[in-house]
Order: sequence, then C-alpha cells, then structure tokens
Amino acid sequence: MIPISVVSLGPEVEQLVLQVLRSGHLAQGPMVAELEARFAALTGVPHAVAVNNGTTALVAALQALELQPGDEVITSPFTFVATLNAILEAGAVARFADITEDYTLDPAGVTALVNERTRVIMPVHLYGLPADMSALSSIADEHSLALVEDAAQAHGASFDGRGVGSFGLGCFSFYATKNVTTGEGGIVTTHDDALADRLRLLRNQGMRARYQYELAGHNYRMTDLQAALALPQLDRLVETTARRRTNAGRLLDGLAGTPGLLLPGTPAGREHVWHQFTVRVTSDARIDRDALTAALTERGVGSGIYYPKLVHDYDCYRDSAAVIVDPTPVAQRVTTEVLSLPVHPGLTDAQVDEIVSVVRDLLG
Ligand SMILES: *Cc1c(COP(=O)(O)O)cnc(C)c1O
Repeated sequence: MIPISVVSLGPEVEQLVLQVLRSGHLAQGPMVAELEARFAALTGVPHAVAVNNGTTALVAALQALELQPGDEVITSPFTFVATLNAILEAGAVARFADITEDYTLDPAGVTALVNERTRVIMPVHLYGLPADMSALSSIADEHSLALVEDAAQAHGASFDGRGVGSFGLGCFSFYATKNVTTGEGGIVTTHDDALADRLRLLRNQGMRARYQYELAGHNYRMTDLQAALALPQLDRLVETTARRRTNAGRLLDGLAGTPGLLLPGTPAGREHVWHQFTVRVTSDARIDRDALTAALTERGVGSGIYYPKLVHDYDCYRDSAAVIVDPTPVAQRVTTEVLSLPVHPGLTDAQVDEIVSVVRDLLG
C-alpha cells in the first residue's frame, strides 16, 4: 500500500529527544523558545508563540482579539472542523463565504457578508495553497477587521513572496500528519507586539510573573519534548517541501488529460507547499469519486477525502445560533468531487508513477 501520509523523523530527532529526557526539563523550556525563534524567522514575523495544538492556536488567536458576544468571524465552509470549533470556543459567531475553484476563500463572497458585527476574516490555506491574501488584506483594511489565518496545512507557503501567517495572526498545526509535526502541537505567529504579549499570557494562566495574574488564562503550553521533534524538521523543511513540489509536478504531468479528472492549479504569485495533492472527479468520469476511492484502495494506492461535507453540515451545529449558513454552491459541489492522492516526501519516483498509472487505468 502507498500510504496517503507517513511520519519519518530520523536520527537527529532521536538525539534531541534524548537530550531533553536527560536534561530533566520536560515542560516548556529552551527547546520551545528555540522553536519559536526559528518559526518566527521562517514566517517572517518578530513573534511566534507555541501552543499545545493547532486548534488551540486558532482559539488563542481569537481570544487575543478580545471578541465580544455576537461578533462575527467569516471563514471557509470547506475546511477541517477545528476552524469552526475554534470560532465557537472563542464565543464568536461563524459565517461562511464561498470558495473559488482553487479551494480557498473567495474575496467577493467575504465582502458580501461583511456587516457591522464582523470582526475577523479567517482564510484557510487549504492543502498548503495560500488564499488570496492580497484581496483579503484589502477587505480587512477597508473595514478595520482582523485577519486570522488558518495556516495549519501551510508551513512555509507564501503569497507574493510573503510567508503565510505574516498577514495577520497565523495559526499553524504540528499534528502527526502535517508538513511539520510534533505529534500534537501548534504555533501562532504575529507582527503585533501587544497581541504576542497577550498570547503568552493566555497560554500560561494569565501570569505575567510568578503569581501575578493579569487575565483569566489557560494552560496552552507545549512541552520541550514536542519542540525537540520539530527542530530538525525545520532544518529540512526547504528540502522536504521541494520533494513535495517535485512529486506534485510529476503527478500533474502524468495525470494531464485524464478524462473526468480536474487537476489542482497554483495561481500566480502563490507558493504551494502541497500538504495534499487534491484532484476532482467530475460527473463525466467513467466511475464516480467514491468508486474511484474504493478501486484505488484495492490497487494499493492510499487516498483521502478532505472534506466529504461542508464543515457546518452536521446535526451538532444545525440549531446553533452561533452558526449562520449562507449558500456556498462552489464549496458544496467540491465536497462531492475532491480526492487527495499521496504527495508526501517519502514517496519514490516509482511510487508516484504507480499512482499515475493506476489512476489513468481506472479512469482512462
Ligand atoms: C489540522 C488542522 C487544524 C487543527 O490542528 P490540530 O493540531 O489538529 O488541532 C485546523 N485547521 C486545519 C485546516 C487543519 O488541517
């Protein structure tokens, strides 16, 4: 089986983890500080605040903005459920603008939803492709809105040469399957000194100095053991991302012209980091998306459906006054068509060619 993702960390990670174990300093300490400094540099911002997971990163970013009850956050309906859950956890109201054909938030759809209660635009850099940060930043400026970027899948991606996570508050995940992993982990990036300070207080019980509490905070801390996993991966991120890009290029070349298959594009000016390689199986394909998924499994090619439904389309959100649903026809259609194929840096060229030949065989 060619898996949809693999975790492969290598000997440097083992060394660093041993170093932490032997230091006796297991909770937040020097490794976390090192990770923060390096991740801030990677993103191109002065501040990065590590937290215990990517969902917490989103929640903390929204809490740092001090949203009031009834304040609205406009996001994408085509995302992982954490995006929505974070908005609800922060006590805000979620609204959903449609996406464009590249799977990211449609700026025109966002503009149509802005009203006097809107406080935040929360784009998702889905599959590692930056959303249109130029247009979204303009809308945010024009209406004095905050930008919270869900960059959970987009470590090192950039828009017009600027790192994602540097346009507003950037929220990254280090979950096991993400492009950089600590098992569980996350980080928030920002240019803003005051927001960074507030994030650090929120993370640590609201504590400024020993037993001096300035706000009702939480324990959002990451451990040094987790941070040690990430450091060697940051050393190799340019290399592993290049490998993802090479694999994506080989898939694009090999699958070009396959009937019933739409391939992912990369709009000009955006650096895609290929967290996922996601195709669309259209209605004129020989077999439908779900039949293709099953056939791929049978032929030893792993795949994934991210995501099979709109994020709010579950009974648990149906009656919530904090979830306001407007029509999003593009996102709705895309949920029935998307299929992600393996693109991770652990693939050999032969495995990529095997994926191409199996898909072509099933759809050709
Ligand atoms: C993974 C992910 C998250 C949440 O990150 P966790 O570390 O799993 O909490 C949020 N948004 C998106 C788009 C994700 O893919």
